Parts: sequence; structure tokens; C-alpha cells
Amino acid sequence: MRYSGSFSLRNLGKSPVMQLFSDKLLFTPGPLSTSKTVKAAMLRDLGSRDTEFISRISYIREKLLETAGVSKEGGYEAVIIQGSGTFGIESVISSVIPRDGHLLVLINGAYGERISGIAAVHGIPQTRLVYAENEITGTAPLRAQLEKNAAITHVAVIHCETTTGIINPIEEIGKLCAAYGKTFIVDAMSSFGAYPVDMPEARIDFLISSSNKCIEGVPGFSFVIARRDSLELAEGRARTLSLDLYAQWKGLETDGQFRFTPPVQVLLAFARALHELEAEGGVKGRAARYARNNEVLLKGMQELGFRVYLDPEHRGYIITSFYYPDHPDFNFRDFYGALSQRGFVIYPGKLGKTDCFRIGNIGHITETDIRELLRAVRDLVSGYAITGKTNE
Ligand SMILES: *Cc1c(COP(=O)(O)O)cnc(C)c1O
Repeated sequence: MRYSGSFSLRNLGKSPVMQLFSDKLLFTPGPLSTSKTVKAAMLRDLGSRDTEFISRISYIREKLLETAGVSKEGGYEAVIIQGSGTFGIESVISSVIPRDGHLLVLINGAYGERISGIAAVHGIPQTRLVYAENEITGTAPLRAQLEKNAAITHVAVIHCETTTGIINPIEEIGKLCAAYGKTFIVDAMSSFGAYPVDMPEARIDFLISSSNKCIEGVPGFSFVIARRDSLELAEGRARTLSLDLYAQWKGLETDGQFRFTPPVQVLLAFARALHELEAEGGVKGRAARYARNNEVLLKGMQELGFRVYLDPEHRGYIITSFYYPDHPDFNFRDFYGALSQRGFVIYPGKLGKTDCFRIGNIGHITETDIRELLRAVRDLVSGYAITGKTNE
């Protein structure tokens, strides 16, 4: 049984614990709605150097490799880094590129820009390949760069660019990088756990995601799945102490512990979330639920006259960008506020000069939740007819 009511009348009279589990539903790119069992797993105190906690860390690292379809025996490692997803990205970018290295960043949204920003702060030489936000990071410009710029040592791309929800072709990009002997870094923050990735096939050296996206844990850490031989090369390359990826890995390997205070409760919740992922049928099972929810959402929104920003062939099932309706009565702030009051939190999102909003469908969300959201949207827009055509 789920408690998906808003803070309003429906919660009055419920016990404080029930109210705790009766939050608004989050249709955002994270943090996301989580199950109450995941939240309940946090109601403990454990010593960070206690044997029970250490075995929990080891379980998590093992399950992360399994979720990525790789293993220690196959030459891969899982490293956990305190902080939000960006800390994991910054850990990789600032730890693995040598002083004489050069990063090529493929950019088609805000998260690609963020990687470029991280490289700039650390003074890492970079080449930026900027694409339109509604276009995938195709390989032709990359090939041209790799041909003419021998200084490039590393290439970074976003798998699901959460700005729009577009899915970039990481396998093709990875194969091209491998052909030119470049190290390949993938920000799979909003896709890991919901899109199957074949790391060896896609020739990925470093893949980054975080606790509060498709694994459906709570925010507090990110993790890196890395090829061990690529990780070993990072020794002595770090530009910071706390985000030193190699040192973090060595710490976890040596005594199973974190170098600095770990987010204990977040890790406990994450262990539970991994268990629930497995119970759902792993990445395949989760992908099926998200894809189905996305299908219901798209169909429902299009029936209400909303137009989808991305062309069908580029869309993923993680998050969807919708144009503002072309109607003088539509005001996003009011729309957002009214939905929020009904217990549904959506996400704003300005794309270049285009006014869009986004609806995420990752997290502990059921098809019923999607239908309830659609009903609320319908109530709000029924006052005026939306005239837009769908782009199907
Ligand atoms: C969520 C996300 C991040 C990390 O954001 P944080 O706020 O630092 O957790 C990075 N890249 C992508 C593609 C994301 O969706």
C-alpha cells in the first residue's frame, strides 16, 4: 500500500510516522520518490568502522558491479564517493586526467556544460564539441576532432542528458574512442539502473552515477564503476585530496572503510534500494516499469494537447520535456503551484530560447501515480483548450 497524498487534508489525522511517508510525489530528475522501506532502512545508528557497516559497504560495491553487468574478476571496480552526483563527476575529471592530458567534452545540455565547467576550474585543457539540445552527440564531429587533435587523451559524454531527456549513443562513441586509444568517461547519472549498459562493449573506462537516481535511494553519495587498469593509472594524478578517486578506491580496498565520514544512513537505504531493484527484476524489470509509465504519460499529455520537445527517435523514458501550451492563459508558475498543491512536483526547464517544463518518470512511481498526475493536469488545463498539434 502506498501513501501518495499531498500535505493537505488527506494527511490530517495520520500519525506523525504516516505523515512522514505521505509526501508529495516527485516527478523530477532527482532526488526522487523512494519506497517507505528504503526510507525506513535509515532509522538506525551504525559505527562507520563497525563490522556490520563494513560488510554493508562491500555488499553495495559488489551489487553495483553486478548492476553494471561487470565483475572484479572481469577487471572492474566500484568506488563510492561522498556528496551528490557532481562530486563523483568532479572526482573522475580531477583525478584521472594527467597534467599533460586533454579532455574532449561532448555537450548537448546543462550536464555536458557542467563537465566542461569542472575541467575549467581545474585548469584541464579541453575541447568542447557543442551540439543543439535536441540533437544527439553524433560521432562525425568527434571523429573529425580525434583525427586532427592528437593532444586529446580523454573523452566525456552524458548518457541521458537530463536537461531534455535525450539519450546519447554511448556505444558508438565508446567504440570510436577505443579505436583512437582514448579514455572514455560517461556520466550515466540519470540512466544507470534503468538503461542496460554493456560497459565492455561500449568501451567505457569510467561510468558515474549517484544514490538518488534510478537505483531509488536517497541523496548523499555518487559512485564510479571503473576499469581497474584505467583506475590504476590515476595514482598521483588527483588535483584535490577529498575527491582523489584512486585514494578513495585504495582506502575501500585496504580496510573496507571510507577515508572520511561516510553517509551511513544513506548507504543503509541504498543497500535496501539495491535489494528492491533486484526484486523488481533488476535493470530489465525497472526499465520495463519506467518505459511503461513513460508511455502512459506521453499518451495522456498528448491527448491533452501538450507537445513533446524531442523527436521520438531521440527520446528516452527517464524524463520528458514538454513545450508550454501555446495559450495566453497558461502560466507555468501557477501550473506548477497548483500541481504541487495537489501533491505532484514537476520540474521547470528552460531550453535555449524555448519554454519547456519537464516531467520525470523515474523513482518509486506507479502507473496509477502517473494516471493521477494526468487527471490533475487535465483539471488544470480544461479551463482552456490547448491548440497545439502533437509531433507524432
Ligand atoms: C542528476 C544529474 C547529475 C548530478 O547532479 P547532482 O545535483 O550533483 O546530484 C549529473 N549529471 C546528470 C546527467 C544528472 O541527471
